[in-house]
Amino acid sequence: MPSGRVHEVINIGVLGLASAVYWVYQNEVDVSQPVAVAFVGGFLVGTFLITPDLDLAEQQVRAKGRWGWLGWFWVPYGWMFAHRGLSHTWVVGPLTRLLYLGAMGVVLYWIMAAVAGYLGLELDWQAQLKAPPQEILWALGLGYYASQWLHLLADGIWPDSGSLLRSSKRRR
Ligand SMILES: [Zn+2]
Repeated sequence: MPSGRVHEVINIGVLGLASAVYWVYQNEVDVSQPVAVAFVGGFLVGTFLITPDLDLAEQQVRAKGRWGWLGWFWVPYGWMFAHRGLSHTWVVGPLTRLLYLGAMGVVLYWIMAAVAGYLGLELDWQAQLKAPPQEILWALGLGYYASQWLHLLADGIWPDSGSLLRSSKRRR
């Protein structure tokens, strides 16, 4: 199996090629620059910070190392998902990590709100956080998914009907 480093090299190589194509055909393709930047952003996050191999619980994972002291945050994810199981499927796999992140974010928000309430502070983030335009969100998501799919391809997991929703039996 490719190591984390090899995965990163493959992903960045493909991103470089895609960027070059975009650069050359910029005027022909109907993709605005903010959308392209959002795609690259999602792709980079999926390459360096949120990878399928975060299912390796306590083991050393390059992506986990990049979270610094927040790396422990992904340990329960590794307990929940067997290595190269559901985490390494085409549709549900990448989604499990986003949902996990979202759920942890909500928990973190509750804790901070509770602490703020205890200190008598008012937390009003909704007012300041405005959702980006829809096409930016789509581009972010697509970039993230593309990075995960490259990882799966490098792992030898192809999008056949079986692996779309569950891992194939042949592999661990
Ligand atoms: Zn993997």
